[in-house]
Amino acid sequence: MYRTNTCGELRISDAGKKTTLAGWVQRIRKMGGMTFVDLRDRYGITQLVFNSETDSDLFEAANKLGREFVIQITGTVEERSNKNPHLPTGDIEIIVSELNVLNKSDVPPFTIEDETDGGDDLRMKYRYLDLRRPAVRKNLELRHRMAFEIRRYLDGKGFLEVETPVLIKSTPEGARDFVVPSRMNPGQFYALPQSPQTFKQLLMVSGFDRYFQIVKCFRDEDLRADRQPEFTQIDCEMSFVEQEDVLQMFEGLVKHIFKYVKDIDFTEPFPRMTWADAMRLYGSDKPDTRFGMQFVELKDLTEGSGFSVVDEAPYVGAIVAPGCAGYTRKQLDKLTDFVKRPQIGAKGMMWVKYEEDGSIKSSVGKFFSDEKIMTWLERGNAKPGDLMLILSGETMKTRKQLNELRLEMGNQLGLRDPNKFSCLWVVDFPLFEWDDETQRYYAMHHPFTSPNPEDIDLLDSDTGAVRATAYDMVVNGNELGGGSIRIHDSQLQDKMFHLLGLSEEEARYKFGFLMNAFKYGAPPHGGLAFGFDRFVSILAGLDSIRDVIAFPKNNAGRDMMIDAPSEIDDSQLDELCIRVDLDEKK
Ligand code: ASP
Repeated sequence: MYRTNTCGELRISDAGKKTTLAGWVQRIRKMGGMTFVDLRDRYGITQLVFNSETDSDLFEAANKLGREFVIQITGTVEERSNKNPHLPTGDIEIIVSELNVLNKSDVPPFTIEDETDGGDDLRMKYRYLDLRRPAVRKNLELRHRMAFEIRRYLDGKGFLEVETPVLIKSTPEGARDFVVPSRMNPGQFYALPQSPQTFKQLLMVSGFDRYFQIVKCFRDEDLRADRQPEFTQIDCEMSFVEQEDVLQMFEGLVKHIFKYVKDIDFTEPFPRMTWADAMRLYGSDKPDTRFGMQFVELKDLTEGSGFSVVDEAPYVGAIVAPGCAGYTRKQLDKLTDFVKRPQIGAKGMMWVKYEEDGSIKSSVGKFFSDEKIMTWLERGNAKPGDLMLILSGETMKTRKQLNELRLEMGNQLGLRDPNKFSCLWVVDFPLFEWDDETQRYYAMHHPFTSPNPEDIDLLDSDTGAVRATAYDMVVNGNELGGGSIRIHDSQLQDKMFHLLGLSEEEARYKFGFLMNAFKYGAPPHGGLAFGFDRFVSILAGLDSIRDVIAFPKNNAGRDMMIDAPSEIDDSQLDELCIRVDLDEKK
């Protein structure tokens, strides 16, 4: 046996016991005739003591250890005189009587402790060392626990976990596919699934009734800060359900996870908000509802001043930042610069300070009387001491800018506490999204999403106004998941393809198998998928999904550790009948 205990296990009640431990040398401290070693394994850290007076050979051997050596020791558990309250094992230490070096280690490229001196690139290159750090390991432990609880909940509700293929044909999520050439079918390619969407719908046609899968999905997108080309979904589908059934079932799942993983009980139903309200009040389809600061619309109260910035704008909107009337000129200029950043794109920002003494200072005093401005403050329920920030312009664009400003103010005021969780269903999404560039409609969710039955008549006459039976779960301003009730009627599905500009031929080529299946008794069905990585990162209180993935890729889609993607041999290319022409690409 390599060990009798783990490095996280021994306590004061074990004092006097003989123990054998194995693990990695995290730290060595030499203090005269004593050498202290922190021994680490997955379970924790235990302090070892080597004393020159009791055994000088052993002491010498200990002094030759290096960081990350793998060792095995035997010794006696003793109460520590200098206790460490930050460690569960901090009351004891092991007086070592035997030392066995199981493996040496090169000096690691960064310190393997929670606070490391390794930069991102270095940590990713040596991810296997990075994963030894307790802070990172904890995230993967959390991930495991969540996956386990997800399976427990869904199994309890009769869901079957069914695996679906990875080498498939294009899926409908609207991103670019990763493709895999087929050697046996020269010139032909598989696509990797952007989601198992079509397969889970086929499983409903097969009568599986309740399906789920914790599954890898692949999307070849430009990687914004927090996307990964391969990521994991909790993918779910149910038959004979309406939207309400789906929401209830998966609100239950989210609550179950919070309860059994975080010990947080949500006793009230999650609030619901229509997409239209989310855009009107927060300028976002994934509002962060940990704090208020809802938008106040002022267009009608700004009319006729002769101030073109508001007169010519179809939309004037504001937020009220509580207690911020004391913001200095410099702070306000900084906020103006913030909204003027190219990523946000506002032309400027107006502000009104409602001073503690009831007086008004503003950047628009030239155009508006105090009485007029007071009507804005009243509409915004502003109190003396508050600051009103105002943007104007084209409606949707300005709302999105105001959303950024609201989130920034939330940050500045410390209102976005990662340990506080606010869950919300956003419902009644539009079915279509108009794209100016290509001058056509796209499916906002995907082409299998059912229109709201009340809006079916509008499909031809007012396409853009049709609501979908689609919903998103939003937590702390993140889209945690989303789904829809599906179309199960092949005629309506044909119509949908048509509205999306897909010819009959294209539709048949891409999704013919599904269209065929729908001719053989497709039950009404619907479902959703949660982003599992995101879910874990939110519960871990992290901004990035990277640290909840064991071996993630960087922003250029590269795995820095194995150095992928990489070129392949000419012989391999020949076999696949593929010719690479990089010049052509340029
Ligand atoms: N397949 C969808 C997605 O990946 C989720 C769903 O509609 O169930 O977003």
